[in-house]
Amino acid sequence: MMSNSGINSQNGTGGSSHVNGPFQIPATLNPQAQGCVAAPPGFPTMSPSKASLLPDQDYYTPRPYQSAPPRVSLYHSPSSSSVPSRPPEGPLQPFSPAKPAVHNHRVPLSPPLQSSPIVPVSNSLSQHHQQPRTGDPYMDNQVTPSSNPGFSQPSMAYSSGNVTPPSFCNALQSSGPPPAPAGNILMPVPRRIPTAHDITRAPTSSDQHEMGTMTGPYPPQPGQMNKKASTAYPSLVPGYQSMLGTPQTLPMHPLTQPYSSLPQQYCQPSVGPAQLSPTMSTLSLQSQTSEALRVMNLLQERTLLPPGPIPAPTPCLPQDLQKLNCSPEVFRSTLTSIPQTQSLLNKAKLPLGLLLHPFKDLSQLPVVTSSTIVRCRSCRTYINPFVSFLDQRRWKCNLCYRVNDVPEEFMYNPVSKSYGEPHKRPEVQNATIEFIAPSEYMLRPPQPAVYLFLLDVSHNAVETGYLDVVCQSLLENLNSLPGDTRTKIGFVTFDSMIHFYNLQDGLSQPQMLIVSDLEDIFLPTPDSLLVNLSECKELVRDLLKSLPQMFTKTMETHSALGPALQAAFKLMSPTGGRVTVFQTQLPNLGVGALKSREDPNQRASAKDVQHLSPATDFYKKLALDCSGQQVAVDLFLLSAQYCDLATLGCISRYSAGSVYFYPSYHSQHNPAQTERFQKDLKRYLTRKIGFEAVMRIRCTKGLSIHTFHGNFFVRSTDLLSLPNVNPDAGFAVQMSIEENLMDMQVVSFQAALLYTSSKGERRIRVHTMCLPVVNSMSDIFAGADVQAIIGLLASMAVDRSVTASLSDARDAMTNAAIDSLMSYRTSVLTMQQPGLLAPACLCLFPLYILALLKQKAFRTGTSTRLDDRVFAMCQLKYQPLAYLMPMIHPSLYRLDDLTDEGALNVSDCTIPQPRMLQLTVEKLSRDGAFLMDTGSDLYLWVGRNCNPSFLSQVLGVQNYVNVPLNMNLLPELDTAESTRTRAFIGWLKEQRPFYPVLHIIRDESPHKTSFMQNMIEDRTESALSYYEFLLHVQQQVSK
Ligand SMILES: [Zn+2]
Repeated sequence: MMSNSGINSQNGTGGSSHVNGPFQIPATLNPQAQGCVAAPPGFPTMSPSKASLLPDQDYYTPRPYQSAPPRVSLYHSPSSSSVPSRPPEGPLQPFSPAKPAVHNHRVPLSPPLQSSPIVPVSNSLSQHHQQPRTGDPYMDNQVTPSSNPGFSQPSMAYSSGNVTPPSFCNALQSSGPPPAPAGNILMPVPRRIPTAHDITRAPTSSDQHEMGTMTGPYPPQPGQMNKKASTAYPSLVPGYQSMLGTPQTLPMHPLTQPYSSLPQQYCQPSVGPAQLSPTMSTLSLQSQTSEALRVMNLLQERTLLPPGPIPAPTPCLPQDLQKLNCSPEVFRSTLTSIPQTQSLLNKAKLPLGLLLHPFKDLSQLPVVTSSTIVRCRSCRTYINPFVSFLDQRRWKCNLCYRVNDVPEEFMYNPVSKSYGEPHKRPEVQNATIEFIAPSEYMLRPPQPAVYLFLLDVSHNAVETGYLDVVCQSLLENLNSLPGDTRTKIGFVTFDSMIHFYNLQDGLSQPQMLIVSDLEDIFLPTPDSLLVNLSECKELVRDLLKSLPQMFTKTMETHSALGPALQAAFKLMSPTGGRVTVFQTQLPNLGVGALKSREDPNQRASAKDVQHLSPATDFYKKLALDCSGQQVAVDLFLLSAQYCDLATLGCISRYSAGSVYFYPSYHSQHNPAQTERFQKDLKRYLTRKIGFEAVMRIRCTKGLSIHTFHGNFFVRSTDLLSLPNVNPDAGFAVQMSIEENLMDMQVVSFQAALLYTSSKGERRIRVHTMCLPVVNSMSDIFAGADVQAIIGLLASMAVDRSVTASLSDARDAMTNAAIDSLMSYRTSVLTMQQPGLLAPACLCLFPLYILALLKQKAFRTGTSTRLDDRVFAMCQLKYQPLAYLMPMIHPSLYRLDDLTDEGALNVSDCTIPQPRMLQLTVEKLSRDGAFLMDTGSDLYLWVGRNCNPSFLSQVLGVQNYVNVPLNMNLLPELDTAESTRTRAFIGWLKEQRPFYPVLHIIRDESPHKTSFMQNMIEDRTESALSYYEFLLHVQQQVSK
């Protein structure tokens, strides 16, 4: 451990008794002894303790603190007079232990089943949920109520579960104040009121064959819904059945007793690892469980962070099943043990959901080419490691329990080249697998890779110098764009007019075509604007070389982004593909023009933040149109000024695109940002891409999908429309439990991503995850995955901020921690003890919640530009969890004493593994150098008295004052220290697909503020310290 001397004692204001000191709990802090409410921890607002919290008193405010106020320790309850009263307009103090009601009254803390709403679940939501369920023709993955009278029982049960949705109120969603205006444009996932768009949209190849189920009228009439739901299903399987040549009647046996006979079924002679033993619950995972449930008093255990990265918890499954399970890197659940009933889930007050990274770059991916892709005839689940083989010829679906025949082809194992061992096929041995789809999976020939670049060339854009970077990067990577001989490319530039470029083969040089009528955009020469890249590569190169010069003299300040996007849509509609937009200012001409909505004076306000929802629905509507034509729009926003990302971002969000944001971009004045842009662009241009994709999530009967998070359009309850899919996109899914899972020992989740590769192959990537079902509160808690929980809560809170308010979202997040710990206390702990008690697996929960409250997306009272905040929210919604965690809770390391002890060896390179430190200035000392990894930035803070050998051997400077104020590169010095440091930082950078900029900072550097703002455990003027937060939580939990 680092000493906590350092700073405070050196700057003369600290001493050993400062506020955030080690958690030595004096007796008086024992809440029981104190009568907890009456003895607040002090809530010392700013002044008394602040000086001692920070290396520099003047960091947060310029006011000096020489008149050392009484040393208020959190651990000694100060008299109330020592707590300065807050000025009326002062920073929001949402967790005032003294007046909890003030801020919390709007969101009930913990009434059973109604607490801490994060996603407003109102009737309207439930209705949204209803309509698609019964009305959507894509709904094929539900267990099939059929017209066969023999099935009426399950069918009834299912639909009744469907109609009354009390279960939608899962632990974190309540019927509490339901602020969600129905039809709000930013309701992130419209719970699927079929829009005009998706009703009129013609189904394309993406839909049908992943599903194999498109039958019946489209769209359904509302009045027909119930009828359809109960009659349509038998006809849902024909695609597959005809492939198999099997009759349409479903065997009676498997469905007549589908859900109650599991244990017996599993008792059948085991044919392989896909079998479950009924004794699994007693298997030897008890030590794992007991460690997860080890009781910790958070008020006393100061050191919660493990020294290194936190691994995902392992589901409590028998080893032979677990070793086949999907990697948590691609598929992860907030609860690795699924509660048997919704009421148990409600009682635990933990969110249930999945986090996915479905198209992640994988080093090993089994790919199967087969003319028959084996799927359940009933629910269309792909065969997977968790099905059971009743014998060699029959397998039972692990999602709907239907018994299916094993096709003859499947009897042969191409890997072992043996016959008669279907359970050893790669499909049954790999939870992640990719199929090359036969022609049944396409309605039209797979589309080529089509790339359109839409470039802002207004005066403002040219002035930033970004055009050079984009054109240069394209020139360098033109041959690396994913694609084949069919790849097409095109360019459109815009200011107050739209400029098209004729690149047709045979021209001696590119031809610019200008369209000035923005009212009714037309394509001047529709056939020669998107051209075959390999045939027209020279013209493309010519254009890229000349483009940056073409507009250098422009005085045009207008930006007609809306009309330009309309042009792009027209151009791309016939094929689908990817539109890449570079925008540098608020669009101010034509349709979609916007006005600034940001009041810079409100950036540090503690009040609610306005304008988080879009100003117009133009961009969303256009995105839906794009989605319907398999066009995704990616947005690169490079701007010094407010650009209304909340509105512009919709174009990417609903078309399954990505958003990149480079505030204060300038090629000359901001080299670090430029480097980031260049690196990101290279990755963007060359990374894998899937076109015309859909993703469907299936789950064992009884579970259902509640809400999706990410960038996409929800086509039906379980189907996402993804015109493009990229390897860096993450998704989250909230789940609810609609029917009791009483007879099940395990449940499974399957994500199937059907896409067209850049080489024109139709492929299906399938991930299947299996999790145990439990019926005790302690087992539920033991399986909690705190990072996944935080990832899901963050997404939910973003929705909540937009549909209700930021303060609502903040309250709800706090309540999430309070409620679950309260539930743990009352339902799991048998012996009451003083303190704030948490199971070991959730010990970081309050810390992470506090981190979220201090994150750019949700913080209040700290100056935050609106676009920065909205971008942080975007990231919370679509970054995969692994990249998200450092954005929520950065990692801090000491770097001036790196050793090779415990180092990793990665391709013959030694990577030191310094210990992760708590995010508090106590861990800093002036004689050291510390690295903070926030995901998108790396800050290397150099102390004033930093070890001279670090300065010279790593930074290459003689002394502290020679460290430049803006330094972004470590010199490559031929010293052991330099090698180690660069190896470690390089290794960190490789962990993510985007490029984090390194800022080497000292006390006088401008980035020091950002560094210090991430000291989450410390108090600021507007936010509690970690310890204060714990006390607040404890107080609420003990109520
Ligand atoms: Zn099935």
